[in-house]
Amino acid sequence: MSGMQIIKKCIKCKKTKKLDEFYKKYRSKTKYMNMCKECVQLKRKQQQENKLSKKKCECCGKTLQLQEYDINNAQSNKYKDICKQCFKDMQTMKLKKCDKCRKEKPVNQYYECRITEDKLFKDCKPCCNTYWGRNYRDEIEQTERYINNPLFGRGI
Ligand SMILES: [Zn+2]
Ligand SMILES: [Zn+2]
Ligand SMILES: [Zn+2]
Repeated sequence: MSGMQIIKKCIKCKKTKKLDEFYKKYRSKTKYMNMCKECVQLKRKQQQENKLSKKKCECCGKTLQLQEYDINNAQSNKYKDICKQCFKDMQTMKLKKCDKCRKEKPVNQYYECRITEDKLFKDCKPCCNTYWGRNYRDEIEQTERYINNPLFGRGI
C-alpha cells in the first residue's frame, strides 16, 4: 500500500518521525499517540520531578512548592513540615488544638462556629474538608442543621 502513513508529526516537539518512534495508544494495535516516545518520556520525568518538588503542609493541608517551606536542617536539606505562611501564623495567632488530628494550629485554620465558646469549630479546616468535602463552609453558613448534630457540639 503506497498511501500508508509511515511517518507522523509529534504535537510536542513538532518533529516528523517514523512511526516506531511513537508509542501505540493504549489497547490499540493501529493507533499511535500524538506525542513521540522521547516527548512522552520527558513529560513523565517532569511530572515525577514536579511531584518531588512539592510537599503537603501539616498545618493548612495544602500541597505547595518546596520554596514555600523553610529549611529545617541545612545539612540534610530537609524542609519543615509546615509552610512559611502557617509558620508565621503560628507566631502571631492564638493556637488551638484540633479535635481530630490532635495538632495545634493557628485559629485561622478553623472554621467559625456559632455554638462553641471560642466561636471556632473543634476540628481544623483540613480535617473538616477531608471529612465533609470541599464545600463544607457554605453548608454550615446556609443551615442551622448542625446544632442538632452531636459531631458539632462541644466536649462529647
Ligand atoms: Zn516529540
Ligand atoms: Zn501551611
Ligand atoms: Zn485537624
